Amino acid sequence: MKTPDRDMSLQVPRTTKERYSSLCSDDELLDDDEPTLWQDEVLSNLQGSVYLPKSGRLAQATKEDSSQLAAVIKMGWLDKNPPQGALYYQRRWVKLDVDYLRYFDNDKEVYSKGIISTAFITNVSSVGELKFEVVTNNRTFIFRAENEAERNDWVTVLQDCTRGRKPRNTMSPGSPLAPDFQGNLELRGLRSKLYTVVALDKVFLYKNVEDYRLGVGITSIEMNVGNVKETDRRTFDLTTPYRIFSFIAESEQLREQWVEAMRDAIGEALSNSEVADQIWMEPSNSLCADCGASKPEWAAINLCVVVCKRCAGEHRGLGPSISKVRSLKMDRKVWTEELIQVFCLLGNERVNSFWAANVPPSEALTPSSCSDERRRFITHKYRQGKYRKYHPLYGNQRELNNALCINVQCSDVLETVSLIFCGADVNCSTGMASWPSPLSLANAHSQPLQAELISHNLNTELPRSEVGGDMEALHYSPQPCVSYNGFLFKTASMARAITEHKSREEFSRRWCTLNDGTFSYYESDKNSNPNGSLKATEIVCLAVDVHEKHGYDHTFELCSESERLYLFGTDDPDSHKEWVKSIAKSLIPASAEPLLRLGFERIGRLKCKDGLNLQTSKVGWFALVGSTLHAYLGDNQGEEIHLRKLNELSIQQDNEVLVLVEKGRTLYIEGERKLDFAGWCSAIQAAAGRGGDTLSQQQLTETDIPVIVHSCIGYITQCGLTSEGIYRKSGVNSRVAALCEKFRCDARSVRLREGEHQVDDVSNTLKRFFRELEEGLFTSKDASTWLNTAAIQDESMKISQYQLLFKRLPRVNKATLQALINHLYCVQRFSELNQMNLHNLAIVFGPTLFQTDGKDYTAGRAVEDLIQFYTLIFEVDEQQLKKQLEEITVIIQVREKLNMKFPSTEPGGHFICTVYLEEKKDTAEQHVKIPGSMTAAELTCEVLDRRNIPVKDKEYWSCWEVSEKEEMERPLHYQERVLPILHAFGTDSNLLIKKHLAMDMMILYLASKVDASKHGNMKFREERSILGLGLSSGSFHDRYFILNSNSLRMYKEIRSNRAEREWPVKNLKVYLGIKKKLRPFTCWGLTVVYESKKQEKSEKQQWYLCCDTQSEMREWYATFLSIQYDGDVWPQDGLKQTRVNRVMPTDTRHGNVSLIPLRGSENEMRNSVAAFSQDPLALFRDVR
Ligand SMILES: [Zn+2]
Repeated sequence: MKTPDRDMSLQVPRTTKERYSSLCSDDELLDDDEPTLWQDEVLSNLQGSVYLPKSGRLAQATKEDSSQLAAVIKMGWLDKNPPQGALYYQRRWVKLDVDYLRYFDNDKEVYSKGIISTAFITNVSSVGELKFEVVTNNRTFIFRAENEAERNDWVTVLQDCTRGRKPRNTMSPGSPLAPDFQGNLELRGLRSKLYTVVALDKVFLYKNVEDYRLGVGITSIEMNVGNVKETDRRTFDLTTPYRIFSFIAESEQLREQWVEAMRDAIGEALSNSEVADQIWMEPSNSLCADCGASKPEWAAINLCVVVCKRCAGEHRGLGPSISKVRSLKMDRKVWTEELIQVFCLLGNERVNSFWAANVPPSEALTPSSCSDERRRFITHKYRQGKYRKYHPLYGNQRELNNALCINVQCSDVLETVSLIFCGADVNCSTGMASWPSPLSLANAHSQPLQAELISHNLNTELPRSEVGGDMEALHYSPQPCVSYNGFLFKTASMARAITEHKSREEFSRRWCTLNDGTFSYYESDKNSNPNGSLKATEIVCLAVDVHEKHGYDHTFELCSESERLYLFGTDDPDSHKEWVKSIAKSLIPASAEPLLRLGFERIGRLKCKDGLNLQTSKVGWFALVGSTLHAYLGDNQGEEIHLRKLNELSIQQDNEVLVLVEKGRTLYIEGERKLDFAGWCSAIQAAAGRGGDTLSQQQLTETDIPVIVHSCIGYITQCGLTSEGIYRKSGVNSRVAALCEKFRCDARSVRLREGEHQVDDVSNTLKRFFRELEEGLFTSKDASTWLNTAAIQDESMKISQYQLLFKRLPRVNKATLQALINHLYCVQRFSELNQMNLHNLAIVFGPTLFQTDGKDYTAGRAVEDLIQFYTLIFEVDEQQLKKQLEEITVIIQVREKLNMKFPSTEPGGHFICTVYLEEKKDTAEQHVKIPGSMTAAELTCEVLDRRNIPVKDKEYWSCWEVSEKEEMERPLHYQERVLPILHAFGTDSNLLIKKHLAMDMMILYLASKVDASKHGNMKFREERSILGLGLSSGSFHDRYFILNSNSLRMYKEIRSNRAEREWPVKNLKVYLGIKKKLRPFTCWGLTVVYESKKQEKSEKQQWYLCCDTQSEMREWYATFLSIQYDGDVWPQDGLKQTRVNRVMPTDTRHGNVSLIPLRGSENEMRNSVAAFSQDPLALFRDVR
């Protein structure tokens, strides 16, 4: 089989002279003879680096260039006069946007030959003969247009663009383009050093520092397509799809700083610009509402203004009760469709017609205003409302409220802004019982934009013009102060967790006060000097104890930043409640204010990271309520983490990080301080494990089935379907009770293993679970209706009544019932083997599920109906069911085979399979025994050892899953278990051991990346079957993809706002190669298999991605791999360790053969197989 990866050779770019000379060969930069010299050097340095050739696709490449995202005002061909005054003109492609005038060799070039900051242009004028000049402080650029009209147009737009701005003489530190890092840097091959500036998401190259100060440079590099990699002690490469810039820093230390700065710039660039693009669609939003700076990337979402970074800083100083500052690029969550619409509808210009209706010219800001000026202006504008346009009803509260209630029913959002910020109360009563607040009124009248605006202003402090001169102090004032005082009983503070019971005698009565953000306790209310005090900002956690934990009925603990624990108590529940409320209020910031409304057990702050940004941790505000962890992370909106539905909860890195894995994302909570962290960990673990007595209180799978039900069914399907009298025979009572208890404590941690758990114990655990379930599976309310339905004579009437009842069940009951009946249906289909036919099963499960005494057969009849009419009542896909039954048949056959091949002598039993070496032919055949624990790396070593093939360095021998029919193949990850792959195989697939030729480059590529993410264009095609005949249709279409740690998202094009499709990366299986029949555009394609569960039905999709180049394909593939295996794509020491391990006695490692469960994601399959090999005895020890 021919695959793209056989080809190992690098695509060394076939470069043209023009490309390399284009950047710097301009007369302004170099002497005439130099370009040739540095060209060659650049070329020679390209060898060996991961180079992304452009291979004649310039036009497309230019399209992707995000500098185009900055709105181009005008572009076209012009002749440019070289500054030295030579007579000839050079033809240049010239582009103008708000910030820069750039000129290029041609219209396909991405990197300019020259870039002039418009802020430095002092004059633009026509100078005869179709010419015009652009004057900066130290230079005059002369351009010549093709005709008079063109020339005049250029002059007009350029003048427009520079008019009204105070031209700057030099780049000051406070300029909008405040650099993150700058200095001299040698570009390889160039004799002189370039003055290089890293600013936000761009890197600028200047000839020298003077040019930088005067705003005239060579080019800017958009870092969204950049990639930085150290190459040697002082050198590093900045790689973009269009060019490699090889830099040499002045020292190793400086090199590190450059690399870091440039990687930050990439991070900045990659933060999504979708929202910004949409918001800037409204033209006035592309200038800061306060100072007029261009492309403002921040917004005050309650004030409805888009502002620049510097103004945003001052907004933040006002506090979130006045201005809720969010980034257009980073705070994606807050940007709902409605909020974006509000901003597009209003726009800075309209909203300023309210906020800035009366700005004296002397007070107005410009993009170059200093921080003091900004602070003064922004305080006047929003805190005091000094410049606002007063509403005619200003001062008349009732009328304002009335007007607000009326106005929110229509679409005039600007009027609402005006009303709110002139004093209308957004929480006022509408006088209508069904819609008591303006917010509900807006919703009721389908005014989502009004509702959105109001919702961001529910707690806004209104402008107060009476605020006097003492502005600065108020400026940074914390939360509105809470004060409360009273007597509490206190124990001595401690530096460890309070685990023991504290009796009343250990408490002393103290007068406590909470005032000005300080909690203090005094000997008595007569004393004026406190015994001790804690600033609210020092309190990191407040925990409410369960009643009567200590001598006083109601107690709470405070944990301080300096790791001390304070215990307070009282017998008065009201006082306790009030204290908890007040203290919480004083420590929680306004941005996390909704947490205060919860009945929390624990509240406070913790450092954390999540999937979006693993580099930097942020402060999160958390509250634990029952089994839900409420969190406010960074500037984001609140979210809820359902602890019982976590895929994983573990403490890692020596008890320093609590890892919560949910569907689609991972949250890392860091133990910044030991004491409160330990408290959180145990509380969260208890909350996640604590199973209640009803169905919905159980730990659940992603498809809402209790983990206990899922595990038991999975186990019985694997090991118990041929067991005679399954579900009728009773297990050993003590073992069943122990198993039930283990599931009750933490169902997720229970691993059922053949040989350690008896089939009858497991089946009875499942039965007991249903029998003892509070409310029952059918709910106590409806159970009798279900039973009555069984008596209905007319079959179709009966079925539709069951369907009706099924639809009425709560979500979890529904999922559980369907899973259980599906299982019972399968059990009775194999009744020849297990003797449990429909009737037998119904006799057992009727009384169990309906929790009756079983004296009559009513309950049994109902269950019999459910199983008998399973496909009708649950509207089951027959094809799906047929497949499921086939899989079970395979499992049963495999088990029989194993039992015959390896009778009692070898209790584990193995699976023998054929593996090929290098190619599929008889002579290359190997028969290998595959134990359940065997990894791809172990299988690879086994085969290589047999053939005495040594493994050299940089040889990436892998085990491949090859499908001839689909013309695709996939190198198994080295840790992947082989057995489940074999079980899932079709007859047209086989295992092949061969070298992974592209692995070296993939590792190099990944090493050069800051994080595993990638975006770009690919061609997409979906497998669509016509009329279920299996004929595929459709064709390849261009799509834009973004792949990050959570998901692969597909957009119609780069500027699309909404993803057309989104897939969780971990559920994707990516193969190399595409069937030729599908006519892919290039041979560099990927076949992607996606397995998901939709409404309890598993669904398998297959689709294709086609890349332009081989290296593109490798990069995508490498990124997928890195994400799926958390960066661990190849063992650090090659296969050495694997080879060593394999020689060791394997008895203990090879457990029983494990068969894949029929349900569950691939990961679950892997886990279940992995579980057999880890420590087969661990569970055994617990079960007596
Ligand atoms: Zn601004």
